[in-house]
Parts: sequence; structure tokens; C-alpha cells
Amino acid sequence: MRRKIIAGNWKMNMTPSEAVALCETLKPLVVSDDVDVVFCVPAIDIIPVVEAVKGTNIAVGAENLYFKDKGAFTGEISAAMLTDAGVKYVIIGHSERREYFAETDETVNAKVKQALANGLTPIICCGETLTQREQGITIDFIRQQIKIAFLGVSAEEAAGCVIAYEPIWAIGTGKVATTEQAEEVCCAIRACICELYGQETAEKIRIQYGGSMNASNAAELLAQPDIDGGLVGGASLKPDFGKIVNYK
Ligand code: PEP
Repeated sequence: MRRKIIAGNWKMNMTPSEAVALCETLKPLVVSDDVDVVFCVPAIDIIPVVEAVKGTNIAVGAENLYFKDKGAFTGEISAAMLTDAGVKYVIIGHSERREYFAETDETVNAKVKQALANGLTPIICCGETLTQREQGITIDFIRQQIKIAFLGVSAEEAAGCVIAYEPIWAIGTGKVATTEQAEEVCCAIRACICELYGQETAEKIRIQYGGSMNASNAAELLAQPDIDGGLVGGASLKPDFGKIVNYK
């Protein structure tokens, strides 16, 4: 039985002081014995947020990392910096990074390997555009994203990863994928992992749905057999996030 994982993606929101205030609001609302709770926060908020959530069930995630160990890469953040600061998870290949910062399946793969080599759990994002969905190529496209993201990753490492299926047309738009659409793709992702690594790994890896998840649609999405959690944008900045964590 896979443990559910609900992660908030704060994106480029919350100054450090606002971040601490949001932690104080959310801390009592996200208490849960059976769900892993993660706040993925902007780099500058990591240290104050790690401090603010000490002693709670909340883990802290980053929204990105660079795939090199260290050196002349102005503006970038290394995996070692993240782990030293207390980060446990890192979002990799979010569609906004692919669209605005030229990330590719290949850089996603390099970042996944860098995260794993440093003991971070990657939350690997994949998802199709509306045009791809309308063309009927959603599953083929996502299988390709997954296959490249996991190149050179062992079965043992893959089992501990998190995949977030996020249809691009559902992110920040208020348009949520239907439960059937979300389950169909998450199931196909698990089948792809099974082809790559076998049944045991496929049964262990956790697959989230992301895209306008909120307090009213979470329970139905999270009841699906292949949806093991959510990657939540807008609703993660509000008390609603507590209702998503406690969706049952
Ligand atoms: C996201 O950006 O990962 C996301 C799912 O955003 P939203 O929940 O706002 O659609």
C-alpha cells in the first residue's frame, strides 16, 4: 500500500517573512498520520521554512536544482546546498520550467540523477499540452518524457521517486482533468515504469496528479488506484491545503 504524498508548489510566491507566516497558518491544518506533506518553496524561503516547520510532519522541498556539483554557474543552486539546508524533495521538470527556462527531457534526466546522487527525492513532472491531448498523443508523449527522465536511474532509485502527472492545460487554469483522464494517464505511467523496471518498482513508485487540485476535487482524484497524491499550486497557499491533506 503506497503512502499518499501531498506537495505544495509555492512557485514564485511568498517573501521569507510571508513564508514563515504561511507556515504558522498551515501547520495545525496539515497534521496527518497517513499522508506525507511537503512544502516546495522558493530558494530564498528554504532556510526560514525549514526552521518554521521543525518538529512537525512537514518536509521541505525545493522547486529546482542544478545538475552540476558546484562552480561557476551564477544564480544556480546545487543539490548539496539543498540537503545542507534541510531539503528532502525537489521538483524537477515542472512545465513552467520547461516552457520559460528551456528545460528539456535531457536536463530533467541530469537533474533527476543529481538529486538521487545527493539523497534528495525528485518529484518528476510530466504532462501534455491541450493540443497534444486533442491530437490523441498524450500517452505516447508522456511515455517518452518518463523514459528519458529515468535513463541511467536504477530500479531501487526509481522506486523511491515521485512522478507528478500535470496536464499543462489544467495548471493554474481552474480546469481540472476528469478523474478518468487523470487515472488513465497515471495508470499508463505506472505501466511504463513496469516495462522499464518490473512490477515491484511499479508498485512502489508514487504518482501524483497536479492541475487545479483543490479541496472539492481532491477526494475523488485521490481515491483512484494509481493516484498516490497531489502536486498543488494555487491551493497550497491557502488553508484549503489542509483540507486537501485531510481529504478523507
Ligand atoms: C502546479 O503548478 O504544479 C499546479 C498544479 O498548479 P495549480 O494547482 O495552481 O494548477
